[in-house]
Amino acid sequence: MYNWSLARRIAHYKATGKSLSVTELCAEVAHLKRQPETEWLRGVDSQSLQQAIRDLDKAFGAFFARRAKFPRFRSKKRETPTFRIPQRVALVGDRLSIPKVGPVRLVLHRPLNGVVKSATFKQDATGAWYVTLVVHFELSDTPLPPPAAERVVGLDVGLKDLVVLSDGRRVPAPKHYRWAERKLRRLGRHLSRCQRGSKNREKARVKVARQHRRVANQRSDFIHKLSSRLVRDYDGGVIEDLNVKGLGKTNLAKSVHDAGWSMLRFQVAYKACWQRKHLAVIGRFFPSSRLCAACGCITSDLTLAEREWTCSCGVTHDRDLNAARNIRDEGLRLLLAEGCPESINAS
Ligand SMILES: [Zn+2]
Repeated sequence: MYNWSLARRIAHYKATGKSLSVTELCAEVAHLKRQPETEWLRGVDSQSLQQAIRDLDKAFGAFFARRAKFPRFRSKKRETPTFRIPQRVALVGDRLSIPKVGPVRLVLHRPLNGVVKSATFKQDATGAWYVTLVVHFELSDTPLPPPAAERVVGLDVGLKDLVVLSDGRRVPAPKHYRWAERKLRRLGRHLSRCQRGSKNREKARVKVARQHRRVANQRSDFIHKLSSRLVRDYDGGVIEDLNVKGLGKTNLAKSVHDAGWSMLRFQVAYKACWQRKHLAVIGRFFPSSRLCAACGCITSDLTLAEREWTCSCGVTHDRDLNAARNIRDEGLRLLLAEGCPESINAS
């Protein structure tokens, strides 16, 4: 449906110079359902078909707003299957009721506390299906009282220690991918030696995919537990707006992605909002590492390798701890000064 609407939109634009709207495409689908050769479309949930058209419309919107490239055709080979149903998916007992499919057994990771709004179904490379349910619930929007300074923590993310907190706590980076790398190399070698198109190759492919999934699950589990603990233990958090995308392109890429900085940031942000805690995000160009937390001087000649440094005022700093303290102080200033605009943004 996605590829069909993309082809239709391109052809229509070439013929008339005009764009096709979602409504027009939906009307065409209704017509297709009446044609004998495309009658099978009736077997699919109609809302799911429309959702694909709307998803493409969104992709075009991003393209016109210059946020994304021109939408591409999706490939059955390259991409894992996924579809969305915007309504009428419901949990009945231990089964998920899916329109036009019926009840399907599932492993539920947590009870749902809210009304199910939409469902996204996705198959991963090992062949397992996942469903993500969006639930709607009410959250109070009364303004939060300003936090007490000692209940606010600054977070400095790094590669050796995933997080250093301004109160001195440290969380070493678990390096899940680095640990699994040897095994992945061995599995990958085996895969490349299997004959193309053979059953053994397919088995080897699933083994590699399973190992990747294992690493991803370990990382996600670790970061979920960490972010929950951080949000629970403090009333406010301050994080730095890091250029993760840029760093991911440098020679630190593997470690940066393995550390899961963006995952941690995202989770801390939504959990803080959920638990009604403060969150401040400070600018990318704030000199958190080079600033002396004791006297406020900025040291210009500090390299990434220097883990400790001594300021001209005589204080010796641990690089990360000093940065975390500066981040906290700057965030606290923002939180107290302007009625917490940043926490509203984070929400
Ligand atoms: Zn100093």
